[in-house]
Amino acid sequence: MKVELNHAASPADLNAADAAIVAVGAHDVVIPVPGADSDKVVSSWDVLAGKVELTGRVAVIGGGLVGTETAEYLLQHGCEVAIVEMLDKIAAGESETILPLIMSDFAEHNVEQHVKTRLTAITDEGVEAIHTTEDGTEEPVRIACDYVVMAVGSKANAFDLDGVTVPVTCVGDCSGERTADIASAIRTAYHAANEL
Ligand SMILES: Cc1cc2nc3c(=O)[nH]c(=O)nc-3n(C[C@H](O)[C@H](O)[C@H](O)COP(=O)(O)OP(=O)(O)OC[C@H]3O[C@@H](n4cnc5c(N)ncnc54)[C@H](O)[C@@H]3O)c2cc1C
Repeated sequence: MKVELNHAASPADLNAADAAIVAVGAHDVVIPVPGADSDKVVSSWDVLAGKVELTGRVAVIGGGLVGTETAEYLLQHGCEVAIVEMLDKIAAGESETILPLIMSDFAEHNVEQHVKTRLTAITDEGVEAIHTTEDGTEEPVRIACDYVVMAVGSKANAFDLDGVTVPVTCVGDCSGERTADIASAIRTAYHAANEL
């Protein structure tokens, strides 16, 4: 098997084969609110990959699995953390075995958990959001912070198939409406390979 690294695949590369399987993954998304292009906004993927080092107060936008994991990472690196989540629960989908450990860690480190809270803007001082109370009333929330970490999901990477003449199957995170997980990437790749 030939492996070529440091090479972005082109239509010509694909056409040189009898068939192609495209597995170009996904990218993380940013909520397009005012201030989203500020220097204080960073990606959770970059934080977890150690590409950026944060200090001080950090607001993590998105309390799903990636946001929760990022919050734990930031706590271990001495940051003060607040999480802003639109749904009524942080870490929805986390295993019932692990969740209590995460919550006790968050309690010990005074992590602010703003649930039912939707980000509306990023300012020099921090973030602005709207919290929806039990009776449906909307109230403004302001969280002062030095950095804002986006952990609001991912979107499939597009691969330009213009000029590609061989049969192509997309697998993994680039293949569907929603990005998924490693098991799904392996499963879709296995089926695609079996179809050849
Ligand atoms: C922070 C985070 C934590 C996660 N934790 C888990 C977890 O605990 N368990 C789990 O199951 N899943 C987890 N996932 C999801 C999992 O990482 C993905 O679902 C999985 O990696 C998808 O595999 P893939 O092969 O489709 O894409 P990727 O693993 O993203 O691989 C795509 C590859 O394609 C390369 N590429 C892109 N464009 C081109 C091009 N034009 N030419 C050549 N190469 C190209 C990229 O450089 C990349 O190496 C996590 C995701 C994130 C972001």
